Amino acid sequence: MRSMTDLSSAPRAQQSLSDRTEPARRKPDWIRVKAPVSKAYHETRTLMRELNLNTVCEEAACPNIGECWTKKHATVMILGDVCTRACAFCNVKTGMPRKVDPLEPEHVAVAAARLGLEHIVVTSVDRDDLPDGGAGQFVKVIEAIRRETPNTTIEILTPDFRGKMRPAVEAICAAGPDVYNHNLETVPRLYPTIRPGARYYASLRLLEEVKRHNPLIFTKSGMMLGLGEERLEIHQVMDDMRSAEVDFLTLGQYLQPTPRHAKVEDFVTPQVFDAFGSVARAKGFLQVAASPLTRSSYHAGKDFAEMRAAREALFAKQSRAAGHQHA
Ligand code: SF4
Repeated sequence: MRSMTDLSSAPRAQQSLSDRTEPARRKPDWIRVKAPVSKAYHETRTLMRELNLNTVCEEAACPNIGECWTKKHATVMILGDVCTRACAFCNVKTGMPRKVDPLEPEHVAVAAARLGLEHIVVTSVDRDDLPDGGAGQFVKVIEAIRRETPNTTIEILTPDFRGKMRPAVEAICAAGPDVYNHNLETVPRLYPTIRPGARYYASLRLLEEVKRHNPLIFTKSGMMLGLGEERLEIHQVMDDMRSAEVDFLTLGQYLQPTPRHAKVEDFVTPQVFDAFGSVARAKGFLQVAASPLTRSSYHAGKDFAEMRAAREALFAKQSRAAGHQHA
């Protein structure tokens, strides 16, 4: 196994997807998770089926589903279960999506209320087929949740809205989510194979655009490690995110969903994740989650509360410093 900290090896040649049909490597002990068996897990599942909602937890075959659904934390995936892109890391189906469900916003809001969520994470498939990329449905979902359960804080994880980013971000920011997440996923060198439909700098611009519209919306972005990226490339992505004033960084281990997906190049140890976490904090992120099982929405509510407290503490410190200067 090559370590994430080994910088001596040359970057590997890029592979086509058809070269990647080898079986998944055995997972190290720190990746193994318990099978989902609890009563609360089944109740969460039943509610999602009743409301005709998709979840990224199931579609992405997330390893944390047993833990999260037992706590009734599910991440809803709006705009259907078929994506117009075909990223090499993602388990969601690709093809021509169905029509947008007009009842979906209300169903998401009802799910948030019935699960008793203090914080909800809503994501979507890419909808390059829609004139607004699906931004309007995000707006309706935010508005429905605010009506149904006004104390629930809202985190959205959006696609890049390729070719329609500015109006999409403007409309969503006007609806006022608490956290706007858009993942950079990997280092720019690996985009052509891992995220071929996206552009690294377009995703960075989206994050900048959110802050330009409303600096008080927390921004969040994440990367998967273990795809063949190098340590200094990860540091560079962190610097790029900080230049875009991203508040919250998530780093987690990439897991190969099927043998047809990009293979795992490294299983990064928990210690190396800790080291990246320390670097990220030193670079000024308000909040960092870095561990093998970290996912964008893992422990999102607890992390949001900590991030909000960190910002309040920072604002208080800045206003004390300003007071001293004027004294
Ligand atoms: S980490 Fe996120 S995607 Fe995975 S099960 Fe938990 S809420 Fe769902």
